[in-house]
Amino acid sequence: MIPDRVLIKISGEAISGKDELFSSDIAIKICNEIKNVIDLGISVLVVVGGGNIIRGRDFINGGVISRETADSIGMLATIMNGLFLKELFQKIGIDSEIVKSHHNPENLSSKNKLLIFVGGLGYPYFSTDTVSVIAALLYKCDIILKATKSNGIYDKDPLLFQDAKFIENLTYEQAIKDNIQIMDQTAFSIIGSNKRIPIYVFSLKEENCFVKALNKTIKMSIVN
Ligand code: UDP
Repeated sequence: MIPDRVLIKISGEAISGKDELFSSDIAIKICNEIKNVIDLGISVLVVVGGGNIIRGRDFINGGVISRETADSIGMLATIMNGLFLKELFQKIGIDSEIVKSHHNPENLSSKNKLLIFVGGLGYPYFSTDTVSVIAALLYKCDIILKATKSNGIYDKDPLLFQDAKFIENLTYEQAIKDNIQIMDQTAFSIIGSNKRIPIYVFSLKEENCFVKALNKTIKMSIVN
């Protein structure tokens, strides 16, 4: 069954290059792959992170910068990434709207317009994973698509352990209990105790990964 609306979480690192904070080559490929989802008639929400520029918890600089300030800078980073993506979507003919956390779903100017969520929730100590699950709940998304560096969830790091076991399906409760790091625990707990929207976790490196994930023709893990 084709979903009506999906939320796609893009980390900041996903749109950066080896030596550049913003890679238009890499990001435009992602935008085109998101366009393939839109072309199926599916309404898309994008939440973009800021980890290519700053993650608050890593930017405290030995205590010189407070966590609150570091997180505020992190939230600003997501705005930069959102503006960058908006421009690239425009180049491939997709009109999008930048949305801040206080945006009211009732005010959607068009049901099918691509929304890019930036600025986090407006408070420190959160991540854009938490923004993703809250936006997915508020905007009644059917699925959350989380493209990552690895092709799903493993019981231990597959790059370090040859015997790492791939986990095809797991519940939010298991994800919390086993401290699965694919999303932060706050995100798992909010979504697990509300509408259990499935999260598909797969590799961003796979060609046309979002459409393949929706068709389940790609290796991936599903949390629900
Ligand atoms: N952030 C925050 N509150 C929020 C969302 C994000 O303080 O509601 C800050 C936090 O410092 C975070 C940074 O913004 O590290 C960038 O977001 P995130 O780490 O989720 O980006 P990603 O890892 O997905 O690129």
